[in-house]
Amino acid sequence: MLSIFARLPWIHRALIAFFSAVIVIALFFLPDANELRNTENQLEVGRHYPLTINMEALDITNTAVPVAVLRWEKHTVKSGESAALLFKRIGLSPRLLHQLVTSDKEIEKQLTRLRPGDVLSFGFDENSDLIQITRKISAFETYKITRSDSGFSSSIDKKEVNYQYNYAEASITSNFWNAAVGAGLTANQIMELAGIFGWDIDFALDIRSNDSFRVLYQEKVVEGEVIGRGRIIAAMFTNQGDTFKAIYDDKSGNYYDQDGRAMKKAFLRSPVDFRRVTSNFNPNRRHPVTGKVRAHRGTDYAAPVGTPIWAAGDGIVTKSSYNQFNGNYVFIKHSNTYITKYLHLKRRSVKQGQRVKQGQTIGTLGGTGRVTGPHLHYEFLVNGVHKNPRTVKLPQSKSLTGKAKQTFIANAKIRLDNLERYGQLLATR
Ligand SMILES: [Zn+2]
Repeated sequence: MLSIFARLPWIHRALIAFFSAVIVIALFFLPDANELRNTENQLEVGRHYPLTINMEALDITNTAVPVAVLRWEKHTVKSGESAALLFKRIGLSPRLLHQLVTSDKEIEKQLTRLRPGDVLSFGFDENSDLIQITRKISAFETYKITRSDSGFSSSIDKKEVNYQYNYAEASITSNFWNAAVGAGLTANQIMELAGIFGWDIDFALDIRSNDSFRVLYQEKVVEGEVIGRGRIIAAMFTNQGDTFKAIYDDKSGNYYDQDGRAMKKAFLRSPVDFRRVTSNFNPNRRHPVTGKVRAHRGTDYAAPVGTPIWAAGDGIVTKSSYNQFNGNYVFIKHSNTYITKYLHLKRRSVKQGQRVKQGQTIGTLGGTGRVTGPHLHYEFLVNGVHKNPRTVKLPQSKSLTGKAKQTFIANAKIRLDNLERYGQLLATR
């Protein structure tokens, strides 16, 4: 065995020694990827787990050893700068660029798609020959162009992304947005949370002081560092004394309550983005024109002119028209039972007879018709009778069934327990 080894060319011996050393170092020093995860599947204490090495992943021919001795230059693409101009500015020949883009279709695509602000790293060997170009795409992906025997080739280096849980909670004092920001949620997460409960809670008008929420969410971890947020895994929202729970279902990608009923329902509670709504409505105010106090048969959302108005549910537009009282208005029939009406629009973007989807923009908020100021007047009719859209009982949502339901409920319980545990941990801190 040793004599065979000794007879190999020195470069082979060197490589074998090098990679043996790498493997030994990897075995002893690299952190176990599982340590970074704290999912439901905890490892058992005292049990042995084999550490498998995927030899195919160790691309020995491509692990360009000389990379270590490259001299690197970093360049940022300037506004209006093409690859040709960039190469000229940093003293690289047009011939080299030509060689690059003709080597590989992907290289051509990447180099013709450079944008201002893109940062490219150029690696040169001791003869000042370009060996490698790299561009970071994200915290865990790097695009790489490497010189090979037959020109250049490209690849994407991906680091493994792991997930861990984090938790946020808040009690609302002034408004939902501020409370959520104070609890450390990002703008995306706040919208996600409002989206999850948007069929049960009108975030524009129904949020009250002392409402509260708890959120269990994923964090993305690369090489032990948190690089971003993942999705919300479980959440609870207490609104005016009612508590709603939502748990993510891995299988369908949807949210369900603790009994497996879909969070998504036939009607949105609010046809306007809550962030745009500026004031609550006083049901006892005098009519702005007649001066009489009369029972108000709808809900008014005050928001800036031009705010998009959404269809509360799937349906067919039965009216898209104008008159002096309603201004521009749209009526939608959702079934034989349900009709929704949207009044005083600035613009209508649907036609009579048109099919619309829940959440589709049907127009923009305005102040047309008999109004004193811009707002959306929204009505919800059940069998021809006006109901308060914020409190009306809505049709049952679809439930999970059979095995999917069993699996979901078991997972949901674990996730809700996690949510509770984090809450208690925070409370005792
Ligand atoms: Zn009104």
